[in-house]
Amino acid sequence: MQLNPAAMALVVQYVSAAQGGVDYSARYGARCPACGQRTRIYRTMPWDGDLRVRYHKCEHQGCIVNALGTSIKSIEVDRG
Ligand SMILES: [Zn+2]
Repeated sequence: MQLNPAAMALVVQYVSAAQGGVDYSARYGARCPACGQRTRIYRTMPWDGDLRVRYHKCEHQGCIVNALGTSIKSIEVDRG
């Protein structure tokens, strides 16, 4: 895959957003940082204090995060 520098920078931005953690909504779940679609949860971690981490995959065909197989980390915060 050949990418120009601007596209490459965007890919790096999407992948770092996915790995760094996106917000998790109890109502909407986690959205892919690249395509904005809802994502499928494949792993849910136990609550750690007020935080719960989940791991997702984007299943949107044609999305770069999907194409790379990048995991999307989400963070749910519950302050009671
Ligand atoms: Zn996506």
